[in-house]
Amino acid sequence: MAHDPRTVPSATISRLVTYLRIVTQLEQGGVRTTSSEYLAKEAQVSAFQIRKDLAYFGRFGTRGEGYTVPTLRREIERILGLTRQWRVAIVGVGRIGEALANYPNFRDYHFELKGLFDLDPAKVGRLVAGLEIKHLSELNRLVLEQGIDIGFITVPPKAAQDAADALVQAGIKGILNFAPTVIEVPREVHVEPVDFLAGLKRLSFYIINPQLKEELA
Ligand code: NAD
Repeated sequence: MAHDPRTVPSATISRLVTYLRIVTQLEQGGVRTTSSEYLAKEAQVSAFQIRKDLAYFGRFGTRGEGYTVPTLRREIERILGLTRQWRVAIVGVGRIGEALANYPNFRDYHFELKGLFDLDPAKVGRLVAGLEIKHLSELNRLVLEQGIDIGFITVPPKAAQDAADALVQAGIKGILNFAPTVIEVPREVHVEPVDFLAGLKRLSFYIINPQLKEELA
């Protein structure tokens, strides 16, 4: 029986994304079956952790025989909601926004870029990645027309809350926030912060504390 998703740890969801990458690569390499031990080694977690993470969502694989790779790939995609395409809008088409828009593999990863928005009159009307940058005042209409579900925030930190408010008002359900600031949204909207500078600071800590790497594994 499927587990109540309200009690699944968010670390499990992060690990599922890693498991999906591993089984997708196995499948692309023509591998038909795998084991928790193999997945554990590749994901740098224990085999017990793999079985525990998957057990939140049902029974996968057969004792002694492991997992059928295409089935496991499909099941993890289903758990993650990746059996459909998600439509994305980017708010703030500066250095980061434009680089993300030009990322060629959006579609492969079940995400389709459908809208670019900015406030700068010098940017509105320009073409980036085949899409015309629209003024933010057109967000509500285009979210509705294009069925956009997800918004990226790539505006300066002081404008991030305004961008979030505009996305929420337009009916967006999830936000990937690249601005290094906390944004407030209603309970039903999910925000995922993305911050490579935070990653760099964690890296600095692990470089000056090399003995802690061992304990992580
Ligand atoms: P940028 O100045 O090049 O671009 C910002 C764009 O947002 C501009 O085009 C501007 O006109 C537009 N804008 C400003 N206010 C707006 C609003 N209210 N609505 C719509 N558009 C608006 O900035 P950048 O270098 O691309 O950085 C964007 C954000 O990403 C910043 O918050 C920056 O701190 C952050 N950042 C994040 C990471 C990360 O790892 N997540 C790394 C670097 C920078």
